Amino acid sequence: MRYLPIHVDTKDADILIVGGEAAAEAKLRTLVKTDANLILVATIVSPEITRWIEAGKITHFNRAFSPCDLDGKRLVYAATEDDSFNGEIAALCRAKFLPVNAADYKDACDFITPALVDRAPVAISIGTEGTSPGLARAIKADLETRLPSTLGSYALKVQKLRAKVKAVMPALSDRQRFWAAIFGGKSLDAQLRLSNEALEAAVYDRFQSKSENGGGMVSLVGSGPGNPDLLTHQARQKLHSADVIVYDRLVSQGVLDFGRREAEYIYVGKEPGGASTPQDEINAIIVAKAKAGHAVVRLKSGDPLVFGRADEEIDALIAAGIAFDICPGITSASAAAAQMKTSLTTRGHNKSVTFMTGHDAKGFAEQDWANLAKPGARAAVYMGIGASRFIQGRLLLHGAAKDLPITIVENASRPEQKIVATTLAGLADDLVAAGIVGPALLMIGYAVRDAKHEILKEKAAL
Ligand code: SAH
Repeated sequence: MRYLPIHVDTKDADILIVGGEAAAEAKLRTLVKTDANLILVATIVSPEITRWIEAGKITHFNRAFSPCDLDGKRLVYAATEDDSFNGEIAALCRAKFLPVNAADYKDACDFITPALVDRAPVAISIGTEGTSPGLARAIKADLETRLPSTLGSYALKVQKLRAKVKAVMPALSDRQRFWAAIFGGKSLDAQLRLSNEALEAAVYDRFQSKSENGGGMVSLVGSGPGNPDLLTHQARQKLHSADVIVYDRLVSQGVLDFGRREAEYIYVGKEPGGASTPQDEINAIIVAKAKAGHAVVRLKSGDPLVFGRADEEIDALIAAGIAFDICPGITSASAAAAQMKTSLTTRGHNKSVTFMTGHDAKGFAEQDWANLAKPGARAAVYMGIGASRFIQGRLLLHGAAKDLPITIVENASRPEQKIVATTLAGLADDLVAAGIVGPALLMIGYAVRDAKHEILKEKAAL
C-alpha cells in the first residue's frame, strides 16, 4: 500500500484551490461539504462554483495565483486546466512541505482524493492508488445503493449511547468487546432499521448478560483453506469480537484482517520440520487468556476438527472449567475438490473417501494400504508432501495401479494455487519437478477435470 488513507480535520483549516473550471469543480464538490475555509484563486469560474461562492461556501479571489497564496494553508489543490502549471504550484508547495494535490498529475501529488461515500459523520473513502478510477466509481455506486441514508444519524445515536456505556464500563478493552458484540455479525440492514429505543434496549440487554457471566471463553474457529471468502459468517463474528486471537501458520492474512486492530495476536505456528510451539504451551495460553476474562479465538486452518489437535485443546479447556464453542470451517480437501471441479464421492465409483495424514507422531503414517490400493479407492492426504515417496511405495506394494490418477493441489483457494495432475507412478518425481512446497493435498484417485473445462473458464473470464 503506497497511499495511506487518513481523514484530515478541516475545522478552522484554510484550504487553497487554484483554478475555477472543471478540475476545480470536481474537487470542490467534496470540499464544500467539509468545515474548511475554502479559498479559491481563479479568474475564470464555472457556473456551479459561482453558486457555491454566492452561497458563502467559498471565498473567491478573482486574480492570478501568487506564491504567497500558499501561506498558512492546511492543504492545497492545484486544479487549473493547465497540467504543467499545476505541476509548478505543486513544486512550490513541496518546497514548503505543504501537502498538495495536483489535478490529473499523480506524480506531483502528495495526496490523491478517493471516491467517497458520504453519510457524515460516516465517510467511506475508496482508493485504487490511481490504478482504476472507474473501478472505484463502481464500488462507490454499489455502496451508495446498499448503505441507507440514515447511516449518519445511526452513528450519532451510537455516539450518545457510548457515553452511557463508558460511565459504567471504564476499561477500554471491555467496551471494545461490548460494542463488537453489539455490532458483530448482525445484518447491517436490520441493525440500521432499529429505532433509538430498540438500539438502547439492545445495549441494555447485552449489558445485563455481560454482568451476569462476565468471564472469558474460547472459540475454536476454522479459518478455511485461506481465501477469506470461504470463512463462515460465524467465524467472522467471532474474529470481530475477539480480544485475543491465537493462530496457526496456515491462517492467511486476509482472514486475520477480520480481527480488530486492538486485539492481541499470538502466533503459535508449527513449521513443518522446524520450530514449533509445543501443544502444551498452546493449551496453557488459551486457558490463561480465557481465565483473564478475554474472548479468545483459537484460529486453525481449514476445519478445526480435521488434523487440528482440537481434542487436546478441548480437554485442557474442560479441565480448566472454561466455556468454549466450536465454529467449523471448510476443510482443505473440500476446497481442493471444488477447485478441481470434482466430486469427492462419485456414485458408482467410491462409496467412501479417506481423509488421512502423511505423518503422525512417529513419522510417516501407516494406513490401511490394502484398502487404499483397491480399485476405486479415493483419499485426500493432508501433510503428505514429505511422505509422498513413502505413500507411493506403500500403494504400489499393495497392488495399486501405476496409472492411478493423483492430483496435487497446493494452496487451494489462494491466489498462488497450483494444481498438478499426475499418476501414482509419477507422484514423487512430479511433485518435486513442479516445485510443490505446500501446503498441499495429495488427492489420490482423483483426476483433474479435462482441459476443455479450463479453457471454457478462461474464456468466461475474458
Ligand atoms: N485443519 C486443516 C488441516 C490442518 S493439517 C484442514 O481442515 O484443512 C495441515 C495440512 O492441511 C497441510 O499440510 C495441507 O496438507 C493441508 N492444507 C491446509 N490448507 C491447505 C490449502 N489451502 N491447500 C492445500 N492444502 C492445505
